[in-house]
Amino acid sequence: MTTDTTSGTTTGATGRNRPAVLGGAPVFPDGLPLTRVRVPDREGLLGRLAGVLDSGMLTNGPTVRQLEEEAAALMRVPHVVAVSNCTAGLMLVLQAAGVDGRRPVLMPGFTFSATAHAAHWAGGSPLFAEAREQDVTLDPADAEARLKAADSPAAMMATHVYGTPCQTEELQRIADAAGVPLVYDAAHGLGSARRGVPVGGFGLAEVFSMSPTKVAVAGEGGLVATRDAALAETLRTARDYGNPGDYDTLFPGLNARMSELHAAVGLTWLAGLPERVAHRGALVAEFARAAAGVPGLRLALPEEGDTSTFKDLTLILDAGAFGLDNRQLAAALKAEGVDTRRYFFPPVHRQKSYAHLGQAEELPRTDRLAASVLTVPLWSHMDAATVRRVADAVVRVQPFAAEVAAVVGTAAGRV
Ligand SMILES: *Cc1c(COP(=O)(O)O)cnc(C)c1O
Repeated sequence: MTTDTTSGTTTGATGRNRPAVLGGAPVFPDGLPLTRVRVPDREGLLGRLAGVLDSGMLTNGPTVRQLEEEAAALMRVPHVVAVSNCTAGLMLVLQAAGVDGRRPVLMPGFTFSATAHAAHWAGGSPLFAEAREQDVTLDPADAEARLKAADSPAAMMATHVYGTPCQTEELQRIADAAGVPLVYDAAHGLGSARRGVPVGGFGLAEVFSMSPTKVAVAGEGGLVATRDAALAETLRTARDYGNPGDYDTLFPGLNARMSELHAAVGLTWLAGLPERVAHRGALVAEFARAAAGVPGLRLALPEEGDTSTFKDLTLILDAGAFGLDNRQLAAALKAEGVDTRRYFFPPVHRQKSYAHLGQAEELPRTDRLAASVLTVPLWSHMDAATVRRVADAVVRVQPFAAEVAAVVGTAAGRV
């Protein structure tokens, strides 16, 4: 085992602060999960659920309607259509937008697989583009170049990654110039805002997820927000098999209805959402202060003036400067009791599902970013002291980077 002289001399002075992976006491002996779901108003929810059960109407009824109305008010959009999940919502929006014939649907490689899967199921074919260095959202310039080179592109998608609003103005200009609809995967963005304007009204439609790892939860669920009345009407039919009411289906739709029970859960989470989003932002600021000055470490942050839900608190590591790559840091944090994920690794253009597209080698910046990210725990009822301890767990590792690397191994030598 090699002995790093720097850490060798500091071990005595800061021995009590040695990283757990090197034998120190873990920061979280009982462990700290990535997300922790807590019902904001349990009594209120039980009351709502009882109301649904007593009504005898268990799907697509007044509770779903109320969720749609409250979400529309929050997002300041005229139409919200609730669906069974975000993936199905994206599929139906893309179908309604005319995606067909395996035509290209431009989208980031740096996103969750469901963005691409939705395009595939709608009848399109993903065409992956690069992420921005700053905030890992879709790079407008790269998207524009690939759209221009594409053969008859059908649509463009962008993801508000971690809740960071995309470059909405630039992306709209590019979509308009290419003559394609712009659809946002807003799975992370319920409560985000671009320059003071709530996410929900950008592009042709924005599709949100209310699954349990997201900030506003319905158990399972999705919301489509749009300013287009005709699209909203089509989606109401589409989520019900394409049945306009007389069982003479207009097109092959899905069963993508939201149940009343899920809507009741969703309503419980929607209440107080802006306050919870503000709290998450304050926690991220706390983390940033506590981890300031650590070499090779930055956070995925929204632009000044934008609001992020911080669905995820994601670190972006420069392994050369930090001394560890994201997997090595993940191993060190695991020893501290801190759960982490590499959101999003592998990036979608590298996944087996899309190997046939031949784009695996085409996104070097996305590859580098995807190999640099590490998401650490954050939840809406976390307190400032806990987020400071998460930051401490990261900060304490860095001065011992060389020793830690020797213990946890390198990318090449790790099992
Ligand atoms: C979670 C997620 C989805 C899928 O949402 P579901 O509601 O589970 O279908 C889509 N895109 C992104 C970016 C996500 O994180």
